[in-house]
Amino acid sequence: MAKILVTGGAGYIGSHTCLELLNAGHDVIVLDNLSNSSEESLYRVQELSSKKLDFVQGDIRHDQDLDKVFNQYQIDAVIHFAGLKAVGESQQIPLTYFDNNIAGSINLTKAMERAGIFKLVFSSSATVYDEANISPLNENMPTGMPSNNYGYTKLIVEQLLEKMSEADPRWSIALLRYFNPVGAHKSGHIGEDPQGIPNNLMPYVTQVAVGRREKLSIYGNDYNTVDGTGVRDYIHVVDLANAHLCALNNRLINNGCRAWNIGTGNGSSVLEVKNAFEKVNGVSIAFEFAPRRSGDVAISFADSTRAKEELNWTAKFGLEDMLKDSWNWQKQNPDGYQK
Ligand code: NAD
Ligand code: UDP
Repeated sequence: MAKILVTGGAGYIGSHTCLELLNAGHDVIVLDNLSNSSEESLYRVQELSSKKLDFVQGDIRHDQDLDKVFNQYQIDAVIHFAGLKAVGESQQIPLTYFDNNIAGSINLTKAMERAGIFKLVFSSSATVYDEANISPLNENMPTGMPSNNYGYTKLIVEQLLEKMSEADPRWSIALLRYFNPVGAHKSGHIGEDPQGIPNNLMPYVTQVAVGRREKLSIYGNDYNTVDGTGVRDYIHVVDLANAHLCALNNRLINNGCRAWNIGTGNGSSVLEVKNAFEKVNGVSIAFEFAPRRSGDVAISFADSTRAKEELNWTAKFGLEDMLKDSWNWQKQNPDGYQK
């Protein structure tokens, strides 16, 4: 069993990953500045697993925070979630995004080097693929220039990590390209808790269902898709969390830098998601069609063959599970972690 530093571990994907790590018997240390999360998620992770983790409130941009953690604990590997992720905000305050996501990642890897730790799993995104690629997207397809600053930070960090591992064979890095993470742990005790108005489809849908928002705006109904609305590959956050454990196991024995898609391989349209949510949960979602959202592509879904073959990972949950679990979390926690 290994000792794992999880940056951004109090957040949505990080908290689910901490739970799976603890359940698998690993020791977990979380470093998070709580800029987009609450420590409550970590109390609940410990409750669910009946195990303890160590939490350090700190920032990946601050050397002293990182060195303190690396000096205090004998870390074997790092799973790096910490960063900012709001696409619209990244257009308004690009420097803040470059600082947290790019400079923060550089700072983290420098501290890892100082501490002699070279195993890293990085949260990347399907947004790094060139928009001209036709889905299913595979890892051999070219990356492109993302349409927003958030996506740009993911592409840059991927490239920096690749160059680092080319120059120094001690590095062993997994780039996990997430498709669309949704859902929650089946207990409904941890889940996604976005601050302010949600950018993403699923939290918007659950907030309409729970009465926090009036209606869903569906961005575009004139795409060349099954019903005119955008198609995405939704992936259950618990499947995604487990992909990190598989990547970690792979990285503990292999060197180099390698990318893996983490998706189900199934595309669902916005209308399909909305209709299925209503059906499986017995609630209705008011909606209107709105203009396309700038930067959105019509269709994006994964070919995850590489993750299956090399990481022995496949998604176990389907769309119904994702929709049920998202609603179960939101219903039990209408105001998120604020209770
Ligand atoms: P999240 O905002 O819930 O979690 C990120 C965590 O990082 C938060 O707890 C936040 O407080 C922390 N953080 C931010 N800046 C920090 C800093 N400078 N120092 C320390 N902690 C910091 O987001 P999430 O959905 O769990 O995403 C986790 C990672 O996965 C992010 O890097 C995100 O870009 C990436 N990702 C997310 C999605 C998605 O749709 N959720 C898709 C692809 C990639
Ligand atoms: N979407 C929508 N209304 C919303 C949020 C999203 O119609 O309030 C659509 C969006 O246009 C895309 C899909 O839902 O087709 C998934 O969007 P999301 O922001 O969740 O993820 P993305 O794929 O953009 O990262």
